[in-house]
Amino acid sequence: MEYFPCLVVGGGDIAFRKILLLLKAGASVECIAPKFCDGIVEKAKNNDIKLTKREFEEEDVLDRTLIISATDDNAVNSAVSVLAKAENIPVNIVDSPDLCSFVMPSIIDRSPIVVAVSSAGKSPVLARLIRAKLESSIPNAYGELAKLAASFRDKVKEKFKKIEDRRYFWERTLTGIIAERVFANKIDEASKLMQIELDNSVETNTGEVYLVGGGPGDPDLLTFKALRLMQQADVILYDRLVSDEVMELVRRDAELIYVGKEKGNHIMPQGGINELLVTLAKQGKRVCRLKGGDPFIFGRGGEEIEELAQNNIPFQVVPGITAASGCSTYSGIPLTHRDYSQSCRFVTAHLKDGTMNLPWDELAVEQQTIVFYMGLVGAKHMSAKLIKHGLRDNMPVALVQKGTTKEHKVWTTTLKELPQVLDNNEIHAPTLIIVGEVVSLRDKLNWFDV
Ligand code: SAH
Repeated sequence: MEYFPCLVVGGGDIAFRKILLLLKAGASVECIAPKFCDGIVEKAKNNDIKLTKREFEEEDVLDRTLIISATDDNAVNSAVSVLAKAENIPVNIVDSPDLCSFVMPSIIDRSPIVVAVSSAGKSPVLARLIRAKLESSIPNAYGELAKLAASFRDKVKEKFKKIEDRRYFWERTLTGIIAERVFANKIDEASKLMQIELDNSVETNTGEVYLVGGGPGDPDLLTFKALRLMQQADVILYDRLVSDEVMELVRRDAELIYVGKEKGNHIMPQGGINELLVTLAKQGKRVCRLKGGDPFIFGRGGEEIEELAQNNIPFQVVPGITAASGCSTYSGIPLTHRDYSQSCRFVTAHLKDGTMNLPWDELAVEQQTIVFYMGLVGAKHMSAKLIKHGLRDNMPVALVQKGTTKEHKVWTTTLKELPQVLDNNEIHAPTLIIVGEVVSLRDKLNWFDV
């Protein structure tokens, strides 16, 4: 076994706790203090701790792998810090983040799996609270599961040449029934099942595409399924509508491909995206096509999977919270209301050749809410048309910019005043426009402020 000579300065309870951690990690500990607490004395009887009963001296820092000081004497703590740093030895001074060259994280120990939580000395209590949460959600037997995986690692490498296939194998076996057997302490059974799974597995040729709705922006609005698939995909194709916070949650080592879709700035035309999905899946990759909102609501999701279906590529579609739902809810505007609106229409107000081909007579009616997607550019045209077709000009309108995100901003006005609001404010895409009496409820029901 390797030898890690560590020094602990101080002999109280805190020093004792640090010593226990060091011993667990396989360190050889020398503890220097004029006085030792009972725990340290007891532990020293049958463990690898050397007790040196005196004050700390400068040379004590020499030839150590790591040093911890846990005395209540600031002068001693500072001296230990300075001397250790001068020798380039990692040093931790308990409760003095400024004097430390490393911090001691809170640890969730499922050896060989170890999870460390650190607040970089900013709030140890918060780190401890997080640790308590993790402790209760990581089964105790994860250590056993890791050991079982270790015993199969070489065989799995041998069998699967492609790294993706290995990963799929582990994802299949480290969850589900095999893992459950381990948690029930039936390790032999789990091991047999894993062998069967290995024998029966075949190398994959075709991947799969997940068409996932990423919601309007707030990452808390993702579905569990969206999150799970985002985290197991090998490649993520995303566009401008997917918020940064949602992108934070995709698998760390996944390949990210930005496919643009900014107005007038299509980094990749739709046909290119469809083709790319097919090509990647044919390479055996699991591809997540991540879209803002819901993929089937003004998302061209239908076109993307049509191409997949034609090429016999397996796919799944995960609905997301569409902008109409997210933006209205976070603005305190119920889309329907018994007194004000019995129906709601989602309309694309994309301006094409300076006009919008919409059934204006059907839209310009009372007791109905209209939600315009992609309507920012054509908003003036839209308000004029609605008024022309008979909707009263004081009908309330809300413009919701970057709804549910940290930049969520709402302007309320009326159909008549809408052009002025657009002229007098800097309103950026994506913005959703809601027209209807329900908008007036915002005065009472608004709850979300950024
Ligand atoms: N599939 C998406 C809509 C894509 S169309 C969905 O279901 O939400 C793009 C339009 O959606 C934008 O022009 C804008 O009108 C609207 N939109 C999407 N996300 C939005 C957000 N966070 N805030 C405001 N509008 C949004």
